[in-house]
Amino acid sequence: MSVASDQPKEACGVFGVRDPQQPVSHLTYLGLYALQHRGQESAGIAVSDGTKILVDKDMGLVSTIFDEHRLRALPGGMAIGHTRYATTGASAWANAQPVSRSAGNHSFALGHNGNLVNTTDLAGGQPNLGSDSDVIAGLLADTLTSQDDGDLIAAMTGVLPRLQGAYSLVVMDETRLIGARDPHGFRPLFLGRLDTGGWVLASETPALDVVGARLIREIDPAEIVIIDDDGVRSIQFAAPQPRALCSFEFVYIARPDGVLAGTGVHAARRRMGKALAQQAPVDADLVMPIPDSSIPGAQGYAAASGIEYGDGLIKNRYIGRTFIAPTQALRESAVRIKFNPIVDMVAGKRLIVVEDSIVRATTLRGTMGMLRDAGAAEIHLRVLSPPYRWSCFYGLDTGDRSKLIAATMTTEQIRDHLDADSLAYLTLDRLREAISPTPDGLCTACLTGDYPTPQS
Ligand code: SF4
Repeated sequence: MSVASDQPKEACGVFGVRDPQQPVSHLTYLGLYALQHRGQESAGIAVSDGTKILVDKDMGLVSTIFDEHRLRALPGGMAIGHTRYATTGASAWANAQPVSRSAGNHSFALGHNGNLVNTTDLAGGQPNLGSDSDVIAGLLADTLTSQDDGDLIAAMTGVLPRLQGAYSLVVMDETRLIGARDPHGFRPLFLGRLDTGGWVLASETPALDVVGARLIREIDPAEIVIIDDDGVRSIQFAAPQPRALCSFEFVYIARPDGVLAGTGVHAARRRMGKALAQQAPVDADLVMPIPDSSIPGAQGYAAASGIEYGDGLIKNRYIGRTFIAPTQALRESAVRIKFNPIVDMVAGKRLIVVEDSIVRATTLRGTMGMLRDAGAAEIHLRVLSPPYRWSCFYGLDTGDRSKLIAATMTTEQIRDHLDADSLAYLTLDRLREAISPTPDGLCTACLTGDYPTPQS
């Protein structure tokens, strides 16, 4: 068991900036810092000074990899960056991104957020070609090599329609910054502008905020944007498919201070909590979140129910990579490293504990035990999303179905397993309404088994 094994692992974060007025490695560092929550296993930056591309990447957190010395060694006015959680491909340096290739007379670098569902087909049945991001880079390089004049945009318009699944890409050659999003728009990607006139691409809007860029718009599904000395131009490389923005970006993944598809994430999470209070009320003394992503939902539940809101658990904010605990005693300590109860807040109280989702429930079970040990009189577990019953193939690593507790147990069995006095999940209709008043265009495959793409 790992410390954070309850929750789906985050997707990845991508960032790109082009501003010939200034060196941009420090801006890229700040952008990646704002996207650290999307992947903590490795990070990297590729820069171009207009003539050549340099890549620096490593295992670990953005702040532990890059220091002033390393950033100064990355000169140039254009960069892309990536924070990674392994979805396909092992957690290893070789799979860290950006990936880079030389082909024909040019080089390019690429960062990918998402997961392809036809990697094996694309790789021609060859195993061990690395991550799906390597496969995309390999296809682009092969196409460039086979062209007489080797243009990266032409290669992308040829290769991207062959990809199935989720991809938000930042790509660059020596002079151009390029963004692209799959035809379903599973993962977000935004375009922003600096006061200097430079342009920024980022997985989430807070990464625009921290570098002082203002949001211009989202990259559309099936769109390639090309940023060069002439400004921004756009190509639609395929017919858009029914939109399928990941609903778990709203539930769990995205930062609450961001905006997705025109909806504020914090406000959406509060609405989930309010809807849950209306759907599954219970008499209690305190509404408390499992921090951090459940905080707005718990606040919404408290506001709608009129029951006091408070902190019952403190989360250690300094947990980095997960680790395997070899003994039961260490496994229990591992849960305690992540959360510790505030005894004064929970002893003798009837608690409403709000959690954003239940995927495997291993850490949650330990957390519920802690609250009991701290003297909770009753624990009513309220979940801001429906039961998570199906694996995600679009960039969120939840493991196979046998690991998903709601795929193998009924709600009553889960309640019993977690030693809760009651358990209620938000219904899918209410989740959709909470995310948006016009809730079309969401992927909910992990909740319904209704996948937007064929699974190969
Ligand atoms: S299956 Fe679930 S986690 Fe994966 S993209 Fe769809 S909504 Fe998001």
